[in-house]
Amino acid sequence: MGIKINRLFAGLMLIGLIGLAGCSADQTSNNASDNASDKASAGSTGEASQLKLYVFQCGEIDFPSIAAFGVDDVETPVRRLVVPCYVIDHPKGSLLWDGGLPFSMAEPAGWQTDPDSGIRARLQQTVKDQLLGLDLGFDLSSIDYAAFSHIHYDHVGAANDLTNATWLVQRGDYDALMAGDGSVPAVDPSLFSEIKNRPTQVLDGDFDVFGDGRVQLISAPGHTPGHQVLYLELADFGPLVLSGDLYHFRLSRAQRRVPVFNVDSAQTLTSMDKVEALVANSGATFWIEHDAQLFETLTLAPGFYQ
Ligand SMILES: [Zn+2]
Repeated sequence: MGIKINRLFAGLMLIGLIGLAGCSADQTSNNASDNASDKASAGSTGEASQLKLYVFQCGEIDFPSIAAFGVDDVETPVRRLVVPCYVIDHPKGSLLWDGGLPFSMAEPAGWQTDPDSGIRARLQQTVKDQLLGLDLGFDLSSIDYAAFSHIHYDHVGAANDLTNATWLVQRGDYDALMAGDGSVPAVDPSLFSEIKNRPTQVLDGDFDVFGDGRVQLISAPGHTPGHQVLYLELADFGPLVLSGDLYHFRLSRAQRRVPVFNVDSAQTLTSMDKVEALVANSGATFWIEHDAQLFETLTLAPGFYQ
């Protein structure tokens, strides 16, 4: 089984993605002392104070087998995961939530297949280029905050290109990344080579990004040591939880399946309980981020949710 799983991760990380520019153990943290709500200027009233959520397609991954996700291949025909990115536009600043596949995968265009695992992936256009082609009032270089649900390679592709953002990261993921000991699979340290030297706020649990409760990072470890989900309070759409990788498939949620490569199975189940309680208590809509069938029904940028 170990060999099989190792091959899976070789495939997950895809040929050529693994950089050797590991994080040094003596890396000093660049914690921003300023709280997000202090850094930002006061918002205005009226339409400008609306919270907006923009959704982007930031890649696709096809798996020949989904057994590693704790789901038997015969239980669902789904083999494709979509890889989304999101920008939250708040009156006090902007936040990128999840960064998609590594930008290097956009060149050459088309599907790239790992010959060992058979896993294939493609990135048709980076979120950076997508933003440059839209007129939303911001681009990747002007975004104020970056938060990834976790440090797996398929969630952080934009990280190094967020040149003016403060990185909001849970301590478990930050420490694992800085230790560079390979304790978390599917991590490519080169994807953090720039962002690790930029202003960083290391979090110890839930965090209210703009101080008004409308954009909250919810600690949900287990998939990785610092996995988190995002809770939004949208005025018209209502409350919304973006799943990160708490679940990959609808079946995973319905039957509390834990992927075999999660770093802590029991912690994952505890996080599922925590997030499901939040969803139930708030009445939030819940989006499984990797759910391609759901994604097809969403409004993509330049459209938005508010
Ligand atoms: Zn993922």
